[in-house]
Amino acid sequence: MTGCVPADRRLERQASLRAAAEAEGLDGLLITHLPNIRYLTGFTGSAALLLVRMDATILISDFRYAAQAPAEVGSAALVEIDQRSVWEKLGRVIASRPPASLGIESHSLTVRDAERVSSLTRGRVVPTAELVEGLRAVKAPEEVAAIRVAASLAQAALAEVLPGIRPGLTEREIAAVLEGALRRQGSEWHPFPTIVASGPRSALPHARTSDRVIGAGELLLLDFGAQADGYCADLTRTVVVGGRADDRQRTVHELVQTAQRRAIEHLRPGMPAREGDALARDVIAARGFGEAFGHSLGHGLGLEVHEAPRLAPTSDIPLPPHAVVTVEPGIYFPGWGGVRLEDDVYLGPDGTECLSDGRTELLELV
Ligand code: ZN
Ligand code: ZN
Repeated sequence: MTGCVPADRRLERQASLRAAAEAEGLDGLLITHLPNIRYLTGFTGSAALLLVRMDATILISDFRYAAQAPAEVGSAALVEIDQRSVWEKLGRVIASRPPASLGIESHSLTVRDAERVSSLTRGRVVPTAELVEGLRAVKAPEEVAAIRVAASLAQAALAEVLPGIRPGLTEREIAAVLEGALRRQGSEWHPFPTIVASGPRSALPHARTSDRVIGAGELLLLDFGAQADGYCADLTRTVVVGGRADDRQRTVHELVQTAQRRAIEHLRPGMPAREGDALARDVIAARGFGEAFGHSLGHGLGLEVHEAPRLAPTSDIPLPPHAVVTVEPGIYFPGWGGVRLEDDVYLGPDGTECLSDGRTELLELV
């Protein structure tokens, strides 16, 4: 049964990248951003340079990956291991067939390393902007499936943890239990630091989980991720702990939920990002809370937890077909608290599909 084996798209991706590079007048690209290297070759290690020439793809890594790199990369690239320095090896590889115009990833290379590349080649060194990220924004079915699996792991972990959440625990204690559950459910790693924010701290959209003790009747915001086959899910739920929600908590939660549902239902590929963002923002602004929703509606999701496309009010870029984005409106009142709800959504040609469960009803953990 060959139907069960996921398609190997690495050479196809490299061909698309070569076409993009050629369109920019380049005859070589140096890929340094590790998630891009993984996408193009399958290499999951922490040290590599990838030279994509028109005639060959060459992965350079070090001693630690002498066995792993060839095993993961297979026939998707030639593998060169250098005992001392990947940069020295890159110099020798470039010298063997110098590109006239070598593109570098300006968003990932440090100034120091860009200077190093310039010293290794007599050709032109040309900054490029997110060529691989542009390819990655368009997901293949198995990538969408991996995100769906990651989301289901995250949901299962949350379901395991919710019954044990009660006043008197600290945010950090809840984060510890949730992270343990994520691992037990099969998440490869936490793609970002788990956010557990209680009471007034839930008004901090990127709160750092603290030792604050949770009080009865408070909001508790949980923003957490899971990873499957390298692909990330990113979920946020806001619940009330140790009591019934009061009117204000209920009203704010309902408004965020309405805004989120409208966006999930009406997002479409091809829509300028700012229009997608407005689907939720307009609902919140119409009730006079526009100022309390100070961040973008969402972000792309894939091998990285924040990737293209941005679902931002400042972006005119059309949302690519087959993209996966988070939809995460929030309303925050400093000193009181905040509510954010986040689900992961696939922008299919025939409409959106929520890859997470979208179960955002207000939970009162009494
Ligand atoms: Zn999140
Ligand atoms: Zn997010």
